[in-house]
Formats: sequence, structure tokens, C-alpha cells
Amino acid sequence: GGDVVTFGETMAALRADGLIRLGGTMRLSVAGAESNVAIGLARLGHRVRWIGLVGADETGELVLRTLRAEGVDVTHARSDERGPTGMILTERRVGELIRVIYHRAGSAASFLSPDDVLPALDPPPRLVHLTGITPALGRGPAEAVRAAVRAAAASGVPACLDVNHRARLWSRDQAAEALRPLAPSLSIIVASDDELELVAPASATTERDRVAALLDAGVTEVIVKRGGEGADGHTADQAVHTPARRVQVADVVGAGDAFVAGYLSGLLDGLDLTGRLGRAVTTGAFAVACSGDWEGLPTRPELGLLDTLPGSILR
Ligand code: ATP
Repeated sequence: GGDVVTFGETMAALRADGLIRLGGTMRLSVAGAESNVAIGLARLGHRVRWIGLVGADETGELVLRTLRAEGVDVTHARSDERGPTGMILTERRVGELIRVIYHRAGSAASFLSPDDVLPALDPPPRLVHLTGITPALGRGPAEAVRAAVRAAAASGVPACLDVNHRARLWSRDQAAEALRPLAPSLSIIVASDDELELVAPASATTERDRVAALLDAGVTEVIVKRGGEGADGHTADQAVHTPARRVQVADVVGAGDAFVAGYLSGLLDGLDLTGRLGRAVTTGAFAVACSGDWEGLPTRPELGLLDTLPGSILR
């Protein structure tokens, strides 16, 4: 069954050097929250499978080829004629402020259904990873997420959800309506500090209450991300704060996905909560220190690189 199964939408990513409205050069890559996590895990040596639909087009081939090249198992991913591969355009508008433009409505990925996902969960992996983006893509993807959560729970596989709210895809109310019912069946919840309320019961009104309510509902680990401030991890008997690693920021996009890859890698390796968070802030820091969502993620021998002295030369 492998270590981790994840699924979602991966798009062609076009990153403009200047302002898109002025024309000029763009760099072509791929981006998707779940496949970013998959690449992060594969680079650390874990066996990870990504499932998703791409269009029957050249950018779809790019998505599959990239994931294959990164050592991600795509045997259950496929192209579908019903829509094109989605696309995300980005430009650096001012300083670190990045403008994101989606062309993803009606994409092939929005036709994902439980039938695409369930076969890939048998034999069961050690972990299933989901994000709150997938249920925002349409009825089928939302069904697929619910089916995967049920299947994981039925076979005793821990499921991890990164809330990953995308305000361009749906409202906070719609997200909460879809995500709250999943919470009791999840083992790990990862959320930014402003996203916790989208998955915790509405009756809880402070972060402390939200964390407590989720742990009471049976979630084993609640992880709260705080950007440059690091993250907090909560279990029934432990709360740990881990500061972010100090790095020069190149591009903050992808930090959250890199963080999840590091966290799940630590979990698969049997690290304790402090060790898991330590690896998560390390992979998160790699993502912000390098441009691109996933390009700079570390291999296992590179995990210690942030401890090397500035100005040293890698040989
Ligand atoms: P994104 O949506 O951009 O991927 P996010 O909002 O999901 O990010 P963040 O909380 O911004 O996630 O970042 C996740 C983790 O990455 C943080 O907990 C931290 O460990 C690391 N990180 C983020 N920003 C920085 C930074 N400026 N310097 C060092 N580490 C950072």
C-alpha cells in the first residue's frame, strides 16, 4: 500500500517574471497542494502515491511527467477528456505580494470521483493526506474526499487534512459546512491560525477551545501554522511550540505544503511531536528560501543544510 496516498488537483503553473498585463517571459512548472506534499515526501525517501485527473493535453503530460520524475507513484492518475488541465498564473506585484490567477473552473480535475480514488487505497497505505481545496472543486471531488475519509477510517488508516482555505474557490461558510463533518474521522488536522475555525465546531470561539474540541472529537494531532512565527502542535497530553527557522525569504508560496511534507515524514519515521514539528519547520523554511512551490524541497541528506554556516560551500 505504500506510505502515503494523496489526491487533488495539480495545475500547470505559469510564473511571470514581470507584470502579466505587460507581457514578457513566464516560467512553466506545475503546482498543486497535494502533489507539493507528495514531492516533499518522495524527496525524503517515502513511498507516496498521488491520484488526480489531468486534461488530455500537453500540460497534463507535464504534470504526470514531473511527478513521475520526482518519484511519486502516478499509476492511479489519468487524463480525462471532459476538461483541460487547470492553470495557475502568478506574478510578483510588489515586493513579496504575489497575485494569483486561476483558470481551473471546469478543469479535468473537477471531475474527480470516489471511483478514481478508492481503488488506490487498497491495499491500505500508512497515511492518507487530503486538503480542504479538493472539496471546493466540485461535487465529485467533495464526494471523493468524504469517501476517502470513510475508507481510511474503516481500515484504520490515519487521515490528515490540511484545511488550506482558498477564498477564490468558496466562502468560509461553505468551507466550514464541508469540513466540519469530516473532523471526527480525521487523525491529523493542520490549519493556519485563521483556518482552525473552518474545521472546529462553531460552538468553540477561541483557538484554545477549538483545539480542545477537536481533540475531544477524537483528532489525535492538531497543528496550527503561524507563518514566520512557526507552529504549535497539540495532542491529548502535549502542546509544543516550534519557532520558524530563520532564512532569507525568496518565495513564501508552498511553505504550508512543505511543512506538511516534513510533518508527515517525521510521523512515518516515528519521531515524537517535537521531532515532527522540527522537521516540518525545516522543510517549510526550505520552501520559503527557494523560489517555486516545491522545487527547493530538500532530499533527506539535505535536511541538515540550514545548520551550515552562511558562506560555506557545498562539496
Ligand atoms: P502557503 O499557503 O503560502 O503555503 P501557509 O499559510 O499554509 O502557507 P505558513 O503558516 O505561512 O503556511 O507556513 C508554514 C510553515 O512554513 C510555518 O509554520 C513555518 O515553519 C514555515 N515558514 C513560513 N514562513 C516562513 C518564513 N518567513 N521564514 C521561515 N519559515 C517560514
